Amino acid sequence: MKKIVIVGGGWSGCAAAISAKKAGADVTLLERTDMLLGTGLVGGIMRNNGRYTATEEIIAMGSGDLFEICDKCSRHTNIEFPGHKHANLYDIAKTHGEVLKHLENLKINIVFNSRITKIDIKNERISSVEDADGNLYEGDVFIDATGTAGPINNCTKYGNGCAMCILRCPSFGGRVSITGLAGIKESMGTKADGSIGAMSGSCKLYKESLSEEIQKELNEKGVAVIPLPKELVEDHLGVKACQQYALPEFKDNVILLDTGHAKLMTPYYNLQTLSKIPGFEYARFEDPYAGGKGNSMRYFAMAPRDNKLKVEGAENLFCCGEKAGLLVGHTEAIVTGTLAGHNSVRYALQKDLLQLPDCLSTGDAISYVKEKMTTKDGMSKKYTFSGSVYFERMKELGIYIKDKNEIIKRVEECGLTNIFAIKLS
Ligand SMILES: Cc1cc2nc3c(=O)[nH]c(=O)nc-3n(C[C@H](O)[C@H](O)[C@H](O)COP(=O)(O)OP(=O)(O)OC[C@H]3O[C@@H](n4cnc5c(N)ncnc54)[C@H](O)[C@@H]3O)c2cc1C
Repeated sequence: MKKIVIVGGGWSGCAAAISAKKAGADVTLLERTDMLLGTGLVGGIMRNNGRYTATEEIIAMGSGDLFEICDKCSRHTNIEFPGHKHANLYDIAKTHGEVLKHLENLKINIVFNSRITKIDIKNERISSVEDADGNLYEGDVFIDATGTAGPINNCTKYGNGCAMCILRCPSFGGRVSITGLAGIKESMGTKADGSIGAMSGSCKLYKESLSEEIQKELNEKGVAVIPLPKELVEDHLGVKACQQYALPEFKDNVILLDTGHAKLMTPYYNLQTLSKIPGFEYARFEDPYAGGKGNSMRYFAMAPRDNKLKVEGAENLFCCGEKAGLLVGHTEAIVTGTLAGHNSVRYALQKDLLQLPDCLSTGDAISYVKEKMTTKDGMSKKYTFSGSVYFERMKELGIYIKDKNEIIKRVEECGLTNIFAIKLS
């Protein structure tokens, strides 16, 4: 049985683990912290706008496990908030446990507290990776799912300092890139003004610190939109990683979503200013703890890759999630993770690699982002099925489809029905 080793247990690494397992491999997933889901531990928004189409495409292709868990763990389904339709919000308290249980049931070997800091290369192939405690993991093919967030020096140099986010670098050590360890030059995203990196676009308030009225609205509707008096408006739209939420409504209102916490749709907000808003007098941050000052910085260290998600310049290394380029979001991470996991097994078995076709949103997004990343302007944007430039493209190309049966039919016409569920040999 071929051995696939995945480094990074965020949404992309979890998706890669599932598809590699389904394709018949022995799979090890290494995570530097004590939890799966990475930045997804404080996320939650699914199926909004074009993410609906991408989700249903992957389900039709036979690897919808993680999407189905998110659906099952949703606190709210089919809600609307400014610029976004038919969104689901998963419960951040339940989802990690459900994903962990699912991966364990699939007999995926998960190792927590395993921060990979070294790799061994023999005959131009990675033969093993080693964690900070000296444990070695050998494999036939490796997947870099280490994300692009932090570590502290990047948050300090390009952001407002360590904001004490869910990645908990001071305790577990910062992100280390496998592509970087392989000596391959990585790229960095920029903001519209050309400065490096992007700040994560939401923070979480402790829901119980808000007024009972706001809590009730969140619990019942999933969303609360609170108009701001002019003097309390803070404009952080330009620094946001998630440009699908860089709309004027997100500046002129406080927009809260209920993911268990109250997800505040802005990168940070001065706590003293926030506490002047009626209902927010006792507000306090849950993530990042220094949400009054800043947030995690991302989009450092993206791997050069082809559209089959093989890292260019490395023999047996694939990548997914933010590592695979300027794609933002859980859905985007699951899509690329699923393809990388499947192709890693094809590669180990010396089979042709799969490229998803451009007539599907999932295939088009992967190839479009690669193309965009060759230009300076393209490097200053972020791409997501859920908004901004890529969602506009989906609409123009007619690949934003809301009818589930039509999506199933398209996948079938491409000959890809259940492709990820088939065991390879
Ligand atoms: C605050 C915040 C809120 C967000 N909200 C949403 C949302 O509501 N909806 C949405 O779709 N998207 C949201 N996003 C974006 C989304 O979370 C990410 O784009 C996506 O989940 C990235 O997944 P990933 O697997 O590529 O990377 P990550 O989530 O960064 O995961 C990488 C993992 O690799 C591990 N790792 C790194 N280096 C090593 C190493 N050397 N050895 C072992 N492990 C390592 C890390 O610990 C981490 O667990 C949010 C992001 C943030 C920061």
